[in-house]
Amino acid sequence: MFRNFKMVSYVVFGRGCFNQLDDILSQKRQSEDDFSVFLVDDVFQDGSLTSRVPVRNRDKIIWVNVDDEPKTTYVDALAKHIKDLSAELPASVVGIGGGSTMDIAKAVSLMLTNPGSSADYQGWDLIKNPAVHHVGIPTLSGTGAEVSRTTVLSGPEKKLGINSDFTVFDQIVLDPELIAGAPMDQRFYTGMDCYIHCVESLNGTYLNAFSKAYGEKAMDLCKTVFLDDCPDSDDKLMMASYCGGMSIAYSQVGICHALSYGLGFVLGIHHGIGNCIVFDYLEDYYPEAVYEFREMMKKHDIRLPRNVTDQVDENELEKMIDVALVLEPLWENALGADWKRTMTREKIRSLYRRM
Ligand code: NAD
Ligand code: ZN
Repeated sequence: MFRNFKMVSYVVFGRGCFNQLDDILSQKRQSEDDFSVFLVDDVFQDGSLTSRVPVRNRDKIIWVNVDDEPKTTYVDALAKHIKDLSAELPASVVGIGGGSTMDIAKAVSLMLTNPGSSADYQGWDLIKNPAVHHVGIPTLSGTGAEVSRTTVLSGPEKKLGINSDFTVFDQIVLDPELIAGAPMDQRFYTGMDCYIHCVESLNGTYLNAFSKAYGEKAMDLCKTVFLDDCPDSDDKLMMASYCGGMSIAYSQVGICHALSYGLGFVLGIHHGIGNCIVFDYLEDYYPEAVYEFREMMKKHDIRLPRNVTDQVDENELEKMIDVALVLEPLWENALGADWKRTMTREKIRSLYRRM
């Protein structure tokens, strides 16, 4: 069976297109009482972006904190807070921030129309009801969260996305000016998430012409952004993220993401930097790309944390291996159907111990 792939319904792209947000939201307001909720990364609380958020009468800005990557408990609390604000649901939920904030906006929009806890829906196609109209506005580029059908959450038992067609944004606003102020190291880590999406998609056994077309374009854009001194690099990085997300949507990621999830679950290491830490040790699997990645690190003077597993005890290491091994499609994409014969617990343990 071929996947029948749900895409974002509306996309606006261009420098300054954030100014069109009010028009876009107005189309969803049926009456004067209708309101929008803006979930905005609190890094912008004291900045100029705040005054540009088009807040109308009953609209509400809620600052979200992403020091920790999104948790189901946080999503549930935000959804409850919004329900407590009004008897009616908001006309739109707008997420303004990096991958974490966009994922929070996706999850909250789902939890406004679906009963119970977001932890009940971690998995594939468990969501029953369509979400509130939801809009994603990236302020960091690389994750592809703006185009994906998942919102990655840490729950009581697992770190797993709410994967569903209802998760996909109804609208995204891609304004390259919004990513200009991101700290250089964070821009690099999140940008490398995109680069690694392309490497894992293009080198995977699930590859097909759809994923290849998007993956190659995204890979070229990443190289231009991180290896050449090019103009318009924010525009290019934003499109790389979009295309990288489209590439993996129709294929899969691979070894780096599987191992990075283990690091994230046990040590709380964030997705972008976690991928970079892992990728530097995958020269046996993606030799040319790892070499190129090191060139990019050198050019941008990036120093990765080392020895991150030094303090990890044997139990924690076992847990990391469990978390990585659960992600079977990633391993199968990377190594083929009989991947279990080559990727043993011992091999994963020795990779983790090198990091
Ligand atoms: P992030 O959203 O976690 O943000 C990282 C840091 O950058 C935060 O401190 C944030 O406040 C700050 N920041 C964001 N934009 C900024 C700006 N313009 N200026 C200054 N600071 C800014 O980072 P990310 O790498 O974009 O997202 C990682 C998250 O995305 C993880 O939670 C991961 O699980 C998730 N993810 C989701 C998908 C998906 O398909 N849904 C895919 C990959 C990753
Ligand atoms: Zn990723």
